[in-house]
Amino acid sequence: MPPSVAPPPRVRADACPGVLAPHDAADGALARIRLPGGVLTAAAARAVADCAQHHGDGAAHLTSRGNLQLRGLRRDDPAALSVLVDAGLVPSRTHERVRNVLASPLSGIAGGLADVRGLAARLDAAVCASAPLAGLSGRFLFALDDGRGDVAAEAPDLCWRARTATSGTLLVAGTPVGSVALADAVDVLVHAAEAFLALGSSGAWRAAEVDGAPAHLAAAVLGNERHGEATERRDCADRRPGVGDVLRDDGGRALVIAPVLGELAADDLRLLARLAPEVLVTPWRTIVLPCGGDAGALAAAGFAVDADSPATLVSACAGSPGCAKSLADVRSHARTIIVDTQTRTHVVGCGRRCGAPHGAHRSLVARADGSYDTEVVSGDGRRSQGSSGRTA
Ligand code: SF4
Repeated sequence: MPPSVAPPPRVRADACPGVLAPHDAADGALARIRLPGGVLTAAAARAVADCAQHHGDGAAHLTSRGNLQLRGLRRDDPAALSVLVDAGLVPSRTHERVRNVLASPLSGIAGGLADVRGLAARLDAAVCASAPLAGLSGRFLFALDDGRGDVAAEAPDLCWRARTATSGTLLVAGTPVGSVALADAVDVLVHAAEAFLALGSSGAWRAAEVDGAPAHLAAAVLGNERHGEATERRDCADRRPGVGDVLRDDGGRALVIAPVLGELAADDLRLLARLAPEVLVTPWRTIVLPCGGDAGALAAAGFAVDADSPATLVSACAGSPGCAKSLADVRSHARTIIVDTQTRTHVVGCGRRCGAPHGAHRSLVARADGSYDTEVVSGDGRRSQGSSGRTA
């Protein structure tokens, strides 16, 4: 039998933000810009920079799904976002929040079994062309994994994962359900998402919330009910592109960089636009320059450009003043610990632990008295009190 998870009854609509439907945060409106496959063109980077500088808090913030967020936008000025629409960052008004597509960032550049470059754009277009898929939750996640297991580990609802250069496996909520050729991957993923909606399961947002979803979707899309064991959620940190120089398969060089705390100031975005016609934003708050870049200029701008930088180890949620639930200005605290941190650390303002990385890490959870509880999170998500307990 497939894993059985009772769907929780939904008492409210999914309020995942988009550009056209910003979230009302404590520091103003928050707009999320979807980047299917993480692709950010130079023109789009300049548009985001202009919007952040003139209408927001001055920066774009990387998300754990390889998207960008703008914060501090005026609530009564939706025209401020028209620069993003004009730049082509909202190709569909009906589907903008469901364009959640991850793809292995180094695919076709270095390593991997198949080249999934281009598939993300095709999948995005196919999702937007399906009228029913406008009804997906903004949390529903597609992934195209080139076989290395990097984005398959990000808990996608539907994933095509390569086994060879031309064939792969469809996974539903991490459970392999059958073979699918690379050439059929886009069609099968779209049909599987439509079949998920057709289940009509009490407004479920994610496939893992629906009892027997892998078997149902296998039967609906592939005509079988076979399925394997759920894929173990492992710490796949070693499969993700690390910060630093990358030897391309063609002998050239790519470069992976990390902005401190995932923040891209407007000038950082303009620097990227000058250095590359297109960069790839990853779900690990890093950025791939497919043909390399001026590491010196990027380091001078504050980016981490090599794996030894402590900045690559520390992340934080929005915290105060952006989030009304936060008990502390966690981003300021995170900046103070970057210097001497040797452990992957995520700093959060409350127990919701937003943006926590998948995989083993240390979590610092703010308390009302200004101290932090320390937790150790294992690769399978289990939490235990850290040995150091509370830290000031
Ligand atoms: S973890 Fe808490 S404080 Fe941080 S962004 Fe989420 S809700 Fe806000």
